[in-house]
Amino acid sequence: MPNRYAKQTLRRLRNDIPIAILIADILELPWKTAEGYFRFLCPRCGGFDTATNPKTNLARCFACQKNFNTIDLAMTVNKQNFRQAVQFLQGIRKVDAKQLCARIAAAMATQSQR
Ligand SMILES: [Zn+2]
Repeated sequence: MPNRYAKQTLRRLRNDIPIAILIADILELPWKTAEGYFRFLCPRCGGFDTATNPKTNLARCFACQKNFNTIDLAMTVNKQNFRQAVQFLQGIRKVDAKQLCARIAAAMATQSQR
């Protein structure tokens, strides 16, 4: 088992799994869309004062003033160490992200019609 991961491997894990998919479908945190943002229940403080940025693939909690990448989120939610979180994410890279994205996009569209 490698002690260190190639930078490229880690970059791919941080970028390839859409952060909203990770939150909603894989870690199954409560989430909602509001004002065009995908918001999630912060695993640190339990608040909804959060947003996700699809461009950087980061999730942010404004209350904690903390950014989470996919690895940070897996570590926090699953209470895993860095290596466990990396292995967890490597195991889910085969998720059908396109289908899941469509579902979340549909939920956001419904929200904005209200
Ligand atoms: Zn928080």
